[in-house]
Amino acid sequence: MAFLEINKINIDYVTEDGVVEAVNDIDLSLKEGESLGLVGETGAGKTTLAKCIMRILPERTARINSGEIFYKGTDLLKLEPEKMREIRGSEIAMIFQDPMTALNPVLTVGEQIAEAVQNHQKVDDAEAMKKAEEMLELVGIPAARSSEYPHQFSGGMRQRVVIAIALACNPKLLIADEPTTALDVTIQAQVLEMIQKLRTQMKSSLILITHDLGLVAQNCESVAVIYAGEIVEYGTVHDIFKDMKHPYTVGLFTSIPKINEDVKRLTPIPGNTPDPVHLPKGCKFCTRCAYATEKCQNEHPELYQSSEGHFVRCFLKGQGGEKYGKQ
Ligand code: SF4
Repeated sequence: MAFLEINKINIDYVTEDGVVEAVNDIDLSLKEGESLGLVGETGAGKTTLAKCIMRILPERTARINSGEIFYKGTDLLKLEPEKMREIRGSEIAMIFQDPMTALNPVLTVGEQIAEAVQNHQKVDDAEAMKKAEEMLELVGIPAARSSEYPHQFSGGMRQRVVIAIALACNPKLLIADEPTTALDVTIQAQVLEMIQKLRTQMKSSLILITHDLGLVAQNCESVAVIYAGEIVEYGTVHDIFKDMKHPYTVGLFTSIPKINEDVKRLTPIPGNTPDPVHLPKGCKFCTRCAYATEKCQNEHPELYQSSEGHFVRCFLKGQGGEKYGKQ
């Protein structure tokens, strides 16, 4: 069994406007030490999937209708809340998008890292603070600043503190949800470089959630492109960048700036993501796809294998290959 194996997960949100199908039949697996990018626009279901792995979906509105998430052979969705609390933080940790909301404004950064340590390790206050100071140094913040509060740090520095908290217990799986979106461009690269360096040192696996295919190319080995709650293309970064197949992946790629090309205007993907309460019956991308046919509007494409390890959910680009996942 894989290190992390997600089987046929379906998640809805019950809202006043109706039922939002947020994640539909997602199958994914991750090897120990592997880095996987989840790419897609806002609202595609990436964060919902990550929160489902962490078991932190809002209980009032989210419904996991079916599926399994095996972590080292144990189905996380069947674990007692107490057991899941032990795993969260010590085995699986998440870095959230906005460092300001992830930090407690009334505790010093040292206290917050020390608290994360004591939640999972039986150490006294002095030892926990020592570990907190080591973690601060590891993320490039002088230990002497451990007695300062979050508002005394810049956005980039705060995100480093969030990373220090996430990594304090040496998690085996790190989920980074748009970890650099709230930061300015010059700091983004430094923070990602640091996440990569630390996770390599700690031999952690990484799930990087982003809307930026460029970040995935630099930081991941494999990639799942997600559109309207389902995987539309999946493969190694190498295969997908060499031969991207799904029209949505191509659209994402042509909408990012390239440093070596003098392009006056970027080409955005036309249209908007479909209303999640009323998703199209056939291919969910059919309202924005230049190649859509009548069949695309009426039938839902499977995820087909187009070549070894490379899968695409498209009648035009993928049909004819083997189906992916547990049928
Ligand atoms: Fe476009 Fe049809 Fe392929 Fe969907 S199945 S991506 S609508 S060509």
